Amino acid sequence: MNHRKVIIVGSGPAGLTAAIYTGRANLEPLLFEGSQPGGQLTITTEVENYPGFPEGIMGPELMDVMKKQAEKFGAKTLFKDVSDVDLSKRPFVVKSGNETYSADSIIISTGASAKLIGIESEKALMGYGVSACATCDGFFFRDQEVVVVGGGDTAMEEATFLTKFASKVTVVHRRDALRASKIMQERAFSNPKIKFVWNSVVDEVLGVKEKRVRGVVLKNVATGEKTEMKCDGVFVAIGHQPNTSIFKGQIETDSVGYIVTKNGSTETSVPGVFAAGDVADKKYRQAVTAAGTGCMSAIDAEKYLEALYHKAGD
Ligand code: NAP
Repeated sequence: MNHRKVIIVGSGPAGLTAAIYTGRANLEPLLFEGSQPGGQLTITTEVENYPGFPEGIMGPELMDVMKKQAEKFGAKTLFKDVSDVDLSKRPFVVKSGNETYSADSIIISTGASAKLIGIESEKALMGYGVSACATCDGFFFRDQEVVVVGGGDTAMEEATFLTKFASKVTVVHRRDALRASKIMQERAFSNPKIKFVWNSVVDEVLGVKEKRVRGVVLKNVATGEKTEMKCDGVFVAIGHQPNTSIFKGQIETDSVGYIVTKNGSTETSVPGVFAAGDVADKKYRQAVTAAGTGCMSAIDAEKYLEALYHKAGD
């Protein structure tokens, strides 16, 4: 069995920062990158608000340099998913397919994934015109008409980005006021290509038979009235769900699934297991806050291991 002092699960800014810090502390961390190395930042375009980059930096590039920095300090990264963990045993057990690892401490930085509406036609047409990532798929909708679902910053960002390609972008929001920040709202409102449909949800995506989105059925939540609207693509931007299924039942989470950490630290309900980044943060969800808690988790893990090894040496 491959034993490690620290195993880090997840490779966004939280996991990579934890790897930099635990690497520099000579803890030789092993980091599981998961199926989307770099996490959510790899599906964004320009990051304008990460300190130190006055001209902005592309999300994938930022993740790439963070990974290089972690490797420089001895972190080993594996392009693998963790399939199972056992947090009841000491050392902890981490499985990736047929391989089993053990660890004295674990840093969970598995982030969050895009939420979906949850209707059958959305599932059937995912990849055939339905997408949860404008930066990944926007390019395919040149001179076409698309719908963006949601009223938060992600929806406004995606709608604005999509106007680079699409001829028309319609934002469908379930209320009559946006949740997005003022600056993002203003950007969207002032863009002549963006239209809004208020108090409405997507009831069905049309085109399942044709295997190509050809429109949506919109339902007005106030009146119940349904209308059809032609479009070529649907971008779902209604928030995120924490990636905690492999830890379910083994660690304290809130009702949504976010890992609960002790006030002012990254300690979880299991001593020796720490959580950093979006997996434990439904409020801030920024690259810089994820990096910040990644740093905290490394310092917390280092302190924990110091005490553990000291006790063992007594
Ligand atoms: P969010 O703020 O939670 O917004 C989700 C939006 O989707 C809300 O408008 C919500 O409606 C709507 N929604 C949720 N479930 C729905 C459903 N089942 N059907 C229809 N609509 C649904 O999520 P987010 O926009 O992804 O933003 C998350 C965080 O990241 C925020 O803190 C945001 O500021 C940040 N962020 C920042 C930037 C930036 O600064 N560049 C960019 C993206 C995200 P209600 O409003 O009715 O709840």
